[in-house]
Parts: sequence; C-alpha cells; structure tokens
Amino acid sequence: MMPPSCDLCRKDHHSDPDEKFRLIYFKLTPEQAAKKQRMKDRRMVGHPPGAHWFCAEHFALMEPLQNLEYKQARAELRKPKGVFARIKTGFKKIFSLSRT
Ligand SMILES: [Zn+2]
Repeated sequence: MMPPSCDLCRKDHHSDPDEKFRLIYFKLTPEQAAKKQRMKDRRMVGHPPGAHWFCAEHFALMEPLQNLEYKQARAELRKPKGVFARIKTGFKKIFSLSRT
C-alpha cells in the first residue's frame, strides 16, 4: 500500500499533517483486474490496482465517480459539461496540478 498522497493535488502527510486521506477503489480496467489476480495468485503485497488516495476535498469530488475506471473519472473532471462542471472550487487547481 502506498502512503497517502492525494492523487489530484499531491497533498500528503508532510505538506498537510492534519489532512484526512481516504482511498477510493475505482472500477478496474481488464489489465488492472488481471494484475490484481496475478498479485493474489502469487500472494504479492502491494498497492491494490485501481485504488487511489485523495484528500478530503478531492475525495468528495471523486467518490461519486468510483464506478468508472480511474482514467474515465479523470476525464469526467475535465469535461466542461461533466458531472462536476458546477463545482468551481478547486476545479482550476486540479487542471494546473494534475500530473497527466
Ligand atoms: Zn487533493
């Protein structure tokens, strides 16, 4: 398991010691599902595929999208008329800080 660090704004316990980080398990792509199975078969310990950490603010933003694959969820955030177009707070921040 990777240490908590928000996947959208990169906050972590060093930058924000009081932030509450939570994991979201997104829908797995076929590749991720295969990887998960391989990890299980080999009893490997690691960060679960499709699981991403978020700070409180971005957890609220991403939680309703967990039924999508993570890539699709990120794409949804970028759509001007997407589910979250109405949410202005933090939206520009996501764009500028996003790694991809
Ligand atoms: Zn964040």
